[in-house]
Amino acid sequence: MIKTDVLVIGAGPVGLFAVHQLGVIGLKAEVVDNLDKAGGQCIELYPDKPIYDIPGIPECTGESLVQGLVDQIEPFKTNFHLDQRVQEISKEKNNWKITTNKNKTFISPNVIIAGGVGSFEPKKFSIESAEKFENKGVFYSIKDKNFFKNKKVCIFGGGDSALDWAIELSKIAEVILIHRRNEFKGAKHSTELVRKLEKESKIKIKTPFQVSSIEGQDKVSSIIIKDDNGKTEKIKTDFVLGFFGLLMKLGPIAEWGLNLDKKKIPVNTENFQTNKEGIFAIGDICTYPGKLKLILSGFHEGALAARACFKLARPNEKYRFEFTTTSKSVHERLGVKKID
Ligand SMILES: Cc1cc2nc3c(=O)[nH]c(=O)nc-3n(C[C@H](O)[C@H](O)[C@H](O)COP(=O)(O)OP(=O)(O)OC[C@H]3O[C@@H](n4cnc5c(N)ncnc54)[C@H](O)[C@@H]3O)c2cc1C
Repeated sequence: MIKTDVLVIGAGPVGLFAVHQLGVIGLKAEVVDNLDKAGGQCIELYPDKPIYDIPGIPECTGESLVQGLVDQIEPFKTNFHLDQRVQEISKEKNNWKITTNKNKTFISPNVIIAGGVGSFEPKKFSIESAEKFENKGVFYSIKDKNFFKNKKVCIFGGGDSALDWAIELSKIAEVILIHRRNEFKGAKHSTELVRKLEKESKIKIKTPFQVSSIEGQDKVSSIIIKDDNGKTEKIKTDFVLGFFGLLMKLGPIAEWGLNLDKKKIPVNTENFQTNKEGIFAIGDICTYPGKLKLILSGFHEGALAARACFKLARPNEKYRFEFTTTSKSVHERLGVKKID
């Protein structure tokens, strides 16, 4: 059981900046995200694309913005609980009890939901045998590529992730890239490189094929693929990887008894509190008259929600507004040298 002042759900840009605003006013936050890294949509959907409307930064990429936000909260030594989804929230006296699908439990008077468009989850194979081998021989993400060293790996998918991993793993493993269409929809240079590697016999490509079954006893031993005419082929393999993109699911958030308006959470714009005391919603997931789904709006929402969290986290203290430029206590929290 982890006790904290604020549990932040979602490590997208808005959740990250909320952690900064909480840290500046002396509150401790823990962060949970379903993805295996911080950054939300910026890192998952457009890491290389330029953003032109972050105040004071004429141009940055999704990835560099996230890196800046992560660097900015470094002084607060925040714990990130990644790769897990917040599943349940229940009231326990004056606190909220929050549980993830990996059975981690938090106790906190405040919860800030910065869940964006919901939790990102990989699209999966729709055959039963894939479920049986999930995380044993069938994977939808890669944590350590060396796990596949000198093995035979079948990669399914035609987008950037499938192509990038086929290229990367071809350096250390025997790779077969399988896609249901003849054309790949990943970046042009990745498609060209994959075709080049095929010519050099460094990658095998099978199109248009889909998986029809995955076979094996305790581990994957082979797969059967079939084409559009029903013609099948058996391929011996050690691992099966599926990269079919991500689903964005509101998921368990819909079950927490919060008011919802078209899959968004209505908030009071004075403090971004939801219909439950101590539960706040900021960023893309919240709605109010005039809401703009922009990162800069989410930053403002996080700043106000953080101040509102203070009341419940420190009921016997009075919140004092201070500028970061001149506040000694803020400088101490940030670990900056004394400025006279
Ligand atoms: C292609 C593209 C270009 C864009 N360009 C711009 C731009 O130029 N300028 C701009 O301002 N905005 C832009 N946006 C919009 C911007 O990315 C979003 O407004 C911003 O990402 C919202 O941030 P967020 O932190 O609210 O949510 P997200 O970035 O969606 O992050 C939410 C996080 O919460 C996690 N999560 C959700 N539910 C749970 C749960 N139950 N448990 C655990 N984790 C959970 C998710 O996994 C996710 O990581 C763009 C968006 C796209 C798709």
